[in-house]
Amino acid sequence: MKRYRMLINGEWVEAARGAFFPVYDPSTEEVTAEAPDAAAEDADRAVRAARAAFDTGPWPQTTAQERGRILLRLAERVRKGAAMLAEIESRNSGKPIVEAEFDVADVATCFEYYGGLATKVMGHVNPVPDNALSLSLREPVGVAAQIIPWNYPLLMAAWKLAPALAAGCTCVLKPAEQTPLTALELAQWFPEVGLPPGVVNIVTGFGETAGAPLVQHPDVNKVAFTGSAAVGKQIVKMAADTIKRVTLELGGKSPNIFFADADFEAAIDGALFGVFINQGEVCSAGSRILVEHPIYSRFVEAMTEKAKRIKLGPPLERETKMGPLVSREQYERVRSYQEIGKQEAKVASGGGRPAALARGYYVEPTIFYDAPNSARIAQEEIFGPVATVIPFADEKDAIRIANDTPYGLAAAVWSRDIFKAFRMVKALRAGVVWVNHMQPTFVEAPWGGYKQSGFGRELGPWGIEEYLETKQVHINLNEQPIGWY
Ligand code: NDP
Repeated sequence: MKRYRMLINGEWVEAARGAFFPVYDPSTEEVTAEAPDAAAEDADRAVRAARAAFDTGPWPQTTAQERGRILLRLAERVRKGAAMLAEIESRNSGKPIVEAEFDVADVATCFEYYGGLATKVMGHVNPVPDNALSLSLREPVGVAAQIIPWNYPLLMAAWKLAPALAAGCTCVLKPAEQTPLTALELAQWFPEVGLPPGVVNIVTGFGETAGAPLVQHPDVNKVAFTGSAAVGKQIVKMAADTIKRVTLELGGKSPNIFFADADFEAAIDGALFGVFINQGEVCSAGSRILVEHPIYSRFVEAMTEKAKRIKLGPPLERETKMGPLVSREQYERVRSYQEIGKQEAKVASGGGRPAALARGYYVEPTIFYDAPNSARIAQEEIFGPVATVIPFADEKDAIRIANDTPYGLAAAVWSRDIFKAFRMVKALRAGVVWVNHMQPTFVEAPWGGYKQSGFGRELGPWGIEEYLETKQVHINLNEQPIGWY
């Protein structure tokens, strides 16, 4: 069993109190590693290191070109270590190895993208009258506290670190307590790629004891949070006392909408992929499957037939399509929703744990149908492989049901009628809308939610904006300054 240390000011350290917490393999339920159980004094130590690196360390003198090169070297280093990272990610989170490999490839692409973008941050000349020159300068916001969840551990770390570093910020990253390992593995390469000590600090531990002190710390300028809506609300309240900049990427209950004229076979695959990828532990999971009346029964039947053939098994086996859920807590939560669903709807498939897998936090891919959109399984984020299929009558009805949720992260529409599809795109209140597929993300395109799915955008040029301040510079061109006294 490996005992990890965390990274503060370029040093691998234990928590001040010397405590560690166990890290599990969810496919065996066994402890496979330990990580430091950080508390407020450790969070403070990390913020002070990030503050010093930002204020006086070499980082403020580093040029955008140099920051870009560091990120490009990190991208290459991730590619070289991809097999190791993917294996640890898969073992720790339960996600199938093939999906973990995709994640790690996306991590490298993310560092590469922001490595390129570092030198494309532009100021502006403002069109003021001729007696002045007015400039807008873009400057890093300062120290960023970045708190991430367990479903895409390394990818979420990259989505946070890459734009922040490109902008010139320094960071304290807190991974989820279930999945701290790949962020720590990544950090071992920081000196090799030229990242100075203190620029990125990684604090491992629990939300309330290690995360909250970061959010409350007066020397932190910005909080970037990905996680549940419930914790997101607490983050906003905690950050209010010191008026920190906050961005929130929260959960969802995303509609995946199928019209009768959609390509039927592609639609069935899209419905399954949309909700069962990564065991359904996806913020944008298409967990509400809206199907037009004429194809509804056939759709439920075909989906059920294919869902029964999804291969569950140990995440490191290459043919596995669905691994265990991340933790006992998540397993129990999803199992309880399976029971709630049985009271609220009909079961098409699944609804329990797979009999063949005695150990591990496995649950069956579960499809409920004939549920009203008001059902708990249609309104609450389950964050597991549980789909609720809901019929609709026409376009208007689909829009009404799709938007009837407090969330607004994502949605998808399937139709061969481009006019209908585009009308739906405009009517859906969601930050991301797919047409005739669901889930692919691009580092070049914005990601984030409407309504209670959060605010702010990650990825693309939008991602770096969230780490920049705008400074207006007003240069007087009169020989006499303007004034009355
Ligand atoms: P949580 O909100 O429980 O946790 C997210 C992170 O916040 C963890 O690091 C957690 O630490 C930390 N945290 C918990 N409580 C506090 C606190 N009081 N102060 C500061 N930090 C705290 O979410 P989950 O880990 O359960 O992740 C699942 C959620 O994340 C889902 O709702 C999902 O939709 C959302 N998500 C959203 C994405 C998006 O892009 N919109 C992407 C991925 C996930 P600890 O590990 O100790 O709990």
